[in-house]
Amino acid sequence: MEGVRTIASLGEFGLIRTLFAPLQQAEEALVTGIGDDAAVLAVPRTQHLLVTTDALLEGSHFLRDDDPYLLGQKALRVNLSDIAAMGGQPRWYTLSLALPPSIPVSWVEEFSRGLADTGREYQVNLIGGDTVGTKGCIAITITLLGLVGRGRALGRKGARPGDRLFVSGTIGDATLGLSHRLRRMTINNPDDLAWFQRRFHLPEPRVALGQMLQETALAHALIDISDGLVSELGHLCRESGVGAAIYTERVPLSDAARRVLAGAATPEQKESILRQILTGGEDYELLFAVAEGALDQIEALEARSGTRITEIGRITREAGVISLFEEGHPIKLPEGGFRHF
Ligand code: ADP
Ligand code: MG
Repeated sequence: MEGVRTIASLGEFGLIRTLFAPLQQAEEALVTGIGDDAAVLAVPRTQHLLVTTDALLEGSHFLRDDDPYLLGQKALRVNLSDIAAMGGQPRWYTLSLALPPSIPVSWVEEFSRGLADTGREYQVNLIGGDTVGTKGCIAITITLLGLVGRGRALGRKGARPGDRLFVSGTIGDATLGLSHRLRRMTINNPDDLAWFQRRFHLPEPRVALGQMLQETALAHALIDISDGLVSELGHLCRESGVGAAIYTERVPLSDAARRVLAGAATPEQKESILRQILTGGEDYELLFAVAEGALDQIEALEARSGTRITEIGRITREAGVISLFEEGHPIKLPEGGFRHF
């Protein structure tokens, strides 16, 4: 397009210097940052280092005309959710970008502003990365490092039969937003649509809650829901060698999601929406198993974290078996979550 300043005019190093290096904050633990061959971090002896990475690909995870400001935020947020799911404190990240030379500078400015705002909100620092040109689509890879006390990281293993199962926030909003976008479904209420879209584009990684679950040693097992509730529960059960029962009527829904369910024209349509809520991805809520007797502590945690926490079922003995119930009646297990291959 004529008149649009593209990143080709800025060059790789111009881009890094003007749009990414300014995101790096000086801090004691950062011995060497952007500008050398590798970053040098001072990791306390009392801590374990957590490392997670997530790639966002144009065409698979976002579209070229998506808001780059929200995309910058989301790229970091999906990684923050993984550190939350280990009970850790997120600290540093690297950014690998593959960009076609025709991308406008303004796109990268907005993307960088999104990273900066989420980085500030969750107190994580950009410490390096890689910037390359591509003839193909945009690819964004963030690697996020976090800290957790030695031996204290929470994982998917450790759920025990009889444990209560909890989730944070509400389930299914993001997938409803995505469905509207993909024209698989129409959301008519503009406020509800805005809410679903917000939940899809701007997930709220539950970092404080994850850390509290770790510090209080309340959760036996913990996972974040990126690929859908049923699928993630499957991972947790497999790793823990247990099964689970979910009482679907207890799964916390937003008012907007309730309205969508209530608006279903037929029982079949309602079932299909419920199925989508239970299996659709991108909620980035936490799912965790807690000892049966710990209900009071969980209530206290809900107040302290300011995050809604809802009991949705139980861990059972039968390894790998996940049963769903609606008002006491078994319902058929929906297909698992999103798969790339
Ligand atoms: P090298 O040639 O050693 O790979 P580069 O020239 O790719 O180094 O990068 C120069 C410096 O800029 C490095 O410190 C690298 O971490 C940093 N960097 C490159 N791209 C980014 C980016 N997108 N965001 C932040 N830092 C970056
Ligand atoms: Mg490089």
